[in-house]
Amino acid sequence: MDKTRIIIVGGGFGGVACAKELSRRLSNEQVELVLFNRENHLVFSPLLAEVVGSSISPLDVILPLRQLLPRVFCRTEDVQGIDSARQEVEYVAENGQPARMHYDQLVIACGSVTNLNVVSGMADHGFPLKTVADAAALRTHIMERMEQAEVCADPERRRWHLTVLIVGGGYSGVEAAGEINDLLRGSAKYFRNWRAQDVTVSLIHSREQILPEISAPLRDFARRKMEKAGVNMVLNARVASATPDGVGLSSGQFLKGATVVCTIGTSAPELMAGVNAPKEKGRLLTEPDMRVRGSGNVWAVGDCAIITNQQDGQPSPTTGQFAERQGRQCARNIVRALEGQPTQPFTFKLLGELCSIGGHSAVADLFGMHLSGFLAWFVWRGVYLFKLPTIGQRLQVGFDWAWLLLFPRDLAHIRPQQTDRVSHAHYDAGDFIFTKGEAPTHFYVLERGEVEVVRPNDGKPGEIVAVLGAGSFFGERALLGNRPRVMSVRARTPVEVLVMGKNLFSHISEALSPLRDALAQTLNRRSVDVWKERPEVHDLLQRTPLQTLMEPVPQPLLKPTATLREVGRAFVEHANEFFYVTSDGQTLEGVVTITDLVRASTGVANPGLRLADFMTKNPVAVAVEDTCAVASGVIREYRLKNLPVVERKDSRRLIGCLRVRKLMAFVLKEVAPESTTKVE
Ligand SMILES: Cc1cc2nc3c(=O)[nH]c(=O)nc-3n(C[C@H](O)[C@H](O)[C@H](O)COP(=O)(O)OP(=O)(O)OC[C@H]3O[C@@H](n4cnc5c(N)ncnc54)[C@H](O)[C@@H]3O)c2cc1C
Repeated sequence: MDKTRIIIVGGGFGGVACAKELSRRLSNEQVELVLFNRENHLVFSPLLAEVVGSSISPLDVILPLRQLLPRVFCRTEDVQGIDSARQEVEYVAENGQPARMHYDQLVIACGSVTNLNVVSGMADHGFPLKTVADAAALRTHIMERMEQAEVCADPERRRWHLTVLIVGGGYSGVEAAGEINDLLRGSAKYFRNWRAQDVTVSLIHSREQILPEISAPLRDFARRKMEKAGVNMVLNARVASATPDGVGLSSGQFLKGATVVCTIGTSAPELMAGVNAPKEKGRLLTEPDMRVRGSGNVWAVGDCAIITNQQDGQPSPTTGQFAERQGRQCARNIVRALEGQPTQPFTFKLLGELCSIGGHSAVADLFGMHLSGFLAWFVWRGVYLFKLPTIGQRLQVGFDWAWLLLFPRDLAHIRPQQTDRVSHAHYDAGDFIFTKGEAPTHFYVLERGEVEVVRPNDGKPGEIVAVLGAGSFFGERALLGNRPRVMSVRARTPVEVLVMGKNLFSHISEALSPLRDALAQTLNRRSVDVWKERPEVHDLLQRTPLQTLMEPVPQPLLKPTATLREVGRAFVEHANEFFYVTSDGQTLEGVVTITDLVRASTGVANPGLRLADFMTKNPVAVAVEDTCAVASGVIREYRLKNLPVVERKDSRRLIGCLRVRKLMAFVLKEVAPESTTKVE
């Protein structure tokens, strides 16, 4: 007789508890147990903050599945889909080919994933804390910041290096804040250029109190104790954006800090989207016995499911404690179902809550008892030590903790070789994308918004040399010359940039001749210092506000919905060389020249063609507050004959136009003709 095959997808708290219980209750002759997991280990996430704080080694928080589950066929593979009609899971086999495996019973226990996109810019500039790699990367980053603070001459920047902003005042945020605070303040004595007073660790939470899950007295204790240890509580505050400089709050306040840790924002794993079953916010809805609704042999446990706890009639919280109990009870229900017996609803009375707050202190709510301080910390450690599955691991972690009670933390860190990659990054207006003197590591393509190329000026506000708009690139000069950056680039408006690693950039620019040519031309144009020979013209342009030479917006304005015929008629009826395009008569959306019209008119006739299809979209513009020197830089970069002028740097409200002819005439008039230079 064929064995019953039970497949478990996910080797976290829920999946492992389920597999363990099944292998205890069913013999190998009866069933084949298969567990799919991305990694070959379980991550003991409650201890991740300890890894960040360098209290324990990353290897101490992972448990090898093979040794935990000797009777289970552990497959380190990624499940791609679930075909409940054919009772099969789909995965990518070792040879890279799609493969399928039949199941008689299926347990979905694939947890949740971090979704940093809940806050604009967080995916680019925030550190998540979900995997061991996240914890190790964050630890390395903080160590690097301490080293940078040590060699930083500017006191304000030094304090910025030593500022950590932790978003989310739940368990993981509080634990991370406690550990990071201990790490930074405890390490100060080993550095000569900064002190513990230079450190700021802020915990930003949207509610009035941190740790909403635990009782009010314990919560207050945790807060007081953490504040005494130096953690700064920013309560009733919502983070609205993250940038390389820090985080913006919805109140408009901006908190500066070199490290942003995000412990909020989770969503259901991608696999859930393909599961044909009722869901809420991507999580599977289950029957009381944890069977997926509408299914006879598919079960779900842990963070990926919404399971009502019969104890209180409420959906279970997404914690390891619950996932483990659900896994265990689900296994028992599967055994009952196989034996033809009735299953039982999930029920669990919470044993208690424990949370470490740093400084050898914790808060605990255990069996109705409230503990706080060192005793609670000792219990917290004991409980987790006891939960570690192997004696070897208990000894190892216990030894690490005992060691740290007597000796300082290890401050050595390994800087992993950065993988070359293409990524997207968001910067808010005013953020520096790179600064003068930095080593060249990346090439940038501007996808949205505008940046300013700034020539720093010995502590004074730098001079804006040019403004670049969407579609432009920058960062090529230092990369090609392999030397430090000579200019800084700052976001003028909120921008999205495509960031390409150095090696990838070198490969593409060598292999792709059109890019090579474009780079050579740009390099040539940008390398010439036009003002070197005629500084008096440069001074004149810098002194002259743009408003002096600005002309009214050329009329008429065209709408992006205008047809080819209407645009043609506008060029016939008016002597304009170009028209600005706007839907509302104010906001600059595009510009169209006669060349654009000619190009659009040639080729196959397309009666549906609209101006929006062939105009230059979001053309670069200067603001009325800019100087004529900035405008001349833009004209030179883009070889323009006219330049739209907008109300402010961060607005696209069209208020005028600057023509190159007028700029030239002005220079010729003001400066003796023999000392003029080309501005175009
Ligand atoms: C920093 C931090 C601290 C925490 N502290 C606590 C605490 O103190 N107490 C507490 O009770 N809880 C805590 N939690 C919450 C707890 O870790 C989770 O609730 C628990 O891990 C959920 O268990 P799970 O089995 O549902 O999912 P997980 O433990 O997340 O496991 C899911 C597994 O499925 C795998 N997987 C996902 N998709 C696939 C796929 N398609 N194919 C193959 N494998 C897949 C994943 O790789 C992962 O190994 C903490 C969480 C974090 C991040």
